Amino acid sequence: MLDYAVVGGGIGGVLVSSLLSHMGKEVILFEALDYLGGCAGTFEREGFYYNVGAATFVGAEENLPVGKIAKFLNIDLPIKPIDPAMVIHIGEKTINRWRDKERSLEEIEEAFPEMFHKGFWERVYKVSESMWNLWCHTLPYPSSLSPLRAFFHKPLDFLSTFLCNFLSAKRVAKVYLGDFNSKYESFLNHHTLITAQGFMDKVPFSVASLGLTYPNLTNYYAVGGMGRLLDSFAKRIKNLSLRTRVKSILKKPWGYALHTNKGIYEAKRVILNTTLWKAGDLIEDLRPFSERAKNTYRELWGAFTIYMTVQGQIPQDLKHHHFILLEKPIPYTNSRSLFVSISEEEDPILSKEKTRSITISTHTSLELWENLPREEYLERKEKAIEYCLKILYDHMPALRNVKKLKVFAGTPKTFERYTGRYRGSVGGIPVIKDYFPFFYPSPLTPLEGIYLVGDTVFPGQGWPGVSMGVVNLLKFIEKDLRLC
Ligand SMILES: Cc1cc2nc3c(=O)[nH]c(=O)nc-3n(C[C@H](O)[C@H](O)[C@H](O)COP(=O)(O)OP(=O)(O)OC[C@H]3O[C@@H](n4cnc5c(N)ncnc54)[C@H](O)[C@@H]3O)c2cc1C
Repeated sequence: MLDYAVVGGGIGGVLVSSLLSHMGKEVILFEALDYLGGCAGTFEREGFYYNVGAATFVGAEENLPVGKIAKFLNIDLPIKPIDPAMVIHIGEKTINRWRDKERSLEEIEEAFPEMFHKGFWERVYKVSESMWNLWCHTLPYPSSLSPLRAFFHKPLDFLSTFLCNFLSAKRVAKVYLGDFNSKYESFLNHHTLITAQGFMDKVPFSVASLGLTYPNLTNYYAVGGMGRLLDSFAKRIKNLSLRTRVKSILKKPWGYALHTNKGIYEAKRVILNTTLWKAGDLIEDLRPFSERAKNTYRELWGAFTIYMTVQGQIPQDLKHHHFILLEKPIPYTNSRSLFVSISEEEDPILSKEKTRSITISTHTSLELWENLPREEYLERKEKAIEYCLKILYDHMPALRNVKKLKVFAGTPKTFERYTGRYRGSVGGIPVIKDYFPFFYPSPLTPLEGIYLVGDTVFPGQGWPGVSMGVVNLLKFIEKDLRLC
C-alpha cells in the first residue's frame, strides 16, 4: 500500500510529492489535467504556450524556501535572473523596481519627490530581512511554540518583527511618511495586493514588508514557462498520474481509498492540494470543516486573464514584467491594475516561431462573473479584453505594431473549470489582520491522515508562500525531514 496519495499537482502537490519520494516514501501524485502546475502551470492551445497565471519567480536562493527544497532534491531549475523585477507604470511615470535597494529607492524618490522616503524604506528592508531570517524557525505554524522557537533561534530578528505582525502597513507608513497622496498609496497598495491579496490598511506591516521587497529578491525568468519548473521537481516523484481526477475519498480501517477516473487506489495518508473549501467535496466527513471555512474566509479574489500570441518586432529593451496602475477600475473586475508578462525572444517554447507569449492578469470580484446568462458572460469578457488591450497599448505603444495571432481570456469560471478552485477564487486566503496571525487556516484537518497543502493553508502565496507551506506541513507529519 502507498504511504501517501497526493491530490492535485499545483506547486504544493508537486513539491510535497517530490520531497516525500526523496525521503523514501511510497507516493503517488494525481493531477486531473494533462500538465502540472495549476495556477502556476503552462498550457498549450492551438500549438502555442501560455503561462496560466504565475509568471514571476522568486525564492530560489539557498536560504529561501524554493532554493532550499531544490538544493535538498539536487535539482537544477531552468531559470535566469532578471533585473528589474518589474516596471511599474503609474500615470505618466514609470518606476523600475531594481534588485539593488539604493537604485530602487532612487527611482521611487524621483517619481515621488515631494516625500522623504528613506526612513520608511529602510524599516521595510530591515523587517523583511528579519522575516526571511526567521522563516524556518517559526515552523510548524500554527503552533503556540512558534514564537518561542523564533525568539530562541533569532532573538533580534524576532524582536524587530514581532509588533509588526499586529500593526497595519498603512499605519506604519503614515508614521514614517506622514500623509501621502492617492498615487503613492496605490503604488504601495498594489505591491501588497499581488503578494498578500490585501491592501495596506489590512495587511500587517511584517507581511507587507515582504511584498514591498519582492522585487529586491533575485527575480527569475522561467525559461519555457512556469510549468517547466514544476516538471523539473516532478522528476523526483515516484509515481505521477496525469489526467487522473480524484472523485471521492473513503475512510478505511487501514487508511483511505481514493476513487479516480482510472480506478481505486489505497494509501495510508492523503495530502490534498485542492483548496481548503473543496476538501469537503472529496471526503464526506470533511464537509462541515469546509463549510465552516466558507463562512470564515469570505474575502476572496478571482483573476481575469488575457492570453496573447503576437508576432513581430518587439523592442529589445521592453522588460519582462509590467505592472500598470490605473485611476479608474477596469470594467467587470473592480480592479485598478494590470500585470503584463512578456516571454523573451529566445524562449524555445513560449516564443517559438518568432512569436511572443503574453499573459495579462488582473484581480476581479468573483460575483461579477457568477450566475450570468451566457450572452452576457461573453459580452463582459469581450468588453474587458478590449479595455485591457487599450490600456496595454497606451502604456506600451510598441506592442500596437505587432500582429496579434491569438487573443483569448479566462475568468473565475475558467479557473474553476480547469483548476477546480472554489468559485474560481485564486491567490489563496488574503494575509490580512482579520485572519493573520491567529485565525489563519492550518494544514491539519479534523481527520487523522488527511492533510492540506497549497495557497489556502499557509499565510503566503505563490512560489515562496506555497513552498514554505510544504515545509510547514512536513514539519507536522514527517519530523525527521532535515530541511531546515
Ligand atoms: C493570475 C495569477 C497570477 C499569479 N502570479 C503569480 C506570480 O507571478 N508569482 C507567483 O509565485 N505566484 C503567482 N500567483 C499565485 C500562484 O499561482 C498560486 O498561489 C499557486 O500556484 C497555488 O498553488 P497551489 O499549490 O495552491 O495549487 P493550485 O494552483 O491550486 O493547483 C491545484 C491543482 O490541483 C488539481 N486538482 C484539483 N482538484 C483535483 C482532483 N480532484 N483530482 C486531481 N487533481 C485535482 C488542479 O488541476 C491543479 O492543477 C498567481 C496566481 C494567479 C491566478
